[in-house]
Amino acid sequence: MERLLLPNACVVCGRPVERGHPDALVCTMCLARLAPLVGGCERCAQPLPPVGPCRFCAEWSDSITWVRSGVWLGDEARALVHHLKYEGYVALGTVMATVTARHVAARRPLCLIPIPLGPRRRKRRGYNQAEILARALGERWRVPVLSNALRRHRETGPQTSLDATAREANVAGAFSASGCPTGRLGPMTRDSRLGASVILVDDVLTTGATVSAAAQALWEGGWSAIGAVTFARALPYAAKAAAA
Ligand SMILES: [Zn+2]
Ligand SMILES: [Zn+2]
Repeated sequence: MERLLLPNACVVCGRPVERGHPDALVCTMCLARLAPLVGGCERCAQPLPPVGPCRFCAEWSDSITWVRSGVWLGDEARALVHHLKYEGYVALGTVMATVTARHVAARRPLCLIPIPLGPRRRKRRGYNQAEILARALGERWRVPVLSNALRRHRETGPQTSLDATAREANVAGAFSASGCPTGRLGPMTRDSRLGASVILVDDVLTTGATVSAAAQALWEGGWSAIGAVTFARALPYAAKAAAA
């Protein structure tokens, strides 16, 4: 109700959005607090351990070439995700796509594929937040969005309450993909140059189990050169706590 009366209040902090940004949903201060990922593993962009190779992406399906996220899931990013996901604030998709595109220098793929919700959850929510984000990204990158290429035929429980092993079991085999319309374009490759024929899109990446399972399903459907982009990524200590 308050939002209807004060359409120019920042959806994150409630302060009035600066003059000169009449359509802005988020104030420049909250936007500035979004912290991009910097450096890290070539494949997954997670900060590397002091010694040895990246462990974050070690268990992922080989079918996933690379994964990038726009910003860390701090308070402001979490608020944006929450409003998009649970409060029907679909206009935030554009803000989140702008932030994501600013920090993810992916080469233009042939198409974007949002991580689907299970049919029951999709019906209850009325929309898929990953699809909203994918459509906004697709507009920016001028790339088509294939919303029906991937299906989630098994409902999976909330990922947040599960540890890493349980998350993998939770999503393994949950997805199936329609065949790639062009046939397989190339071999399985871990190309870190951020080229991809298809990019999976999701709102948040926690352990990567979901994008890994989705990429595996696409691979089995004949797709190749699969990358993934998410708006936000769980802070490293949060992912570690989930894996402990
Ligand atoms: Zn704000
Ligand atoms: Zn990695």
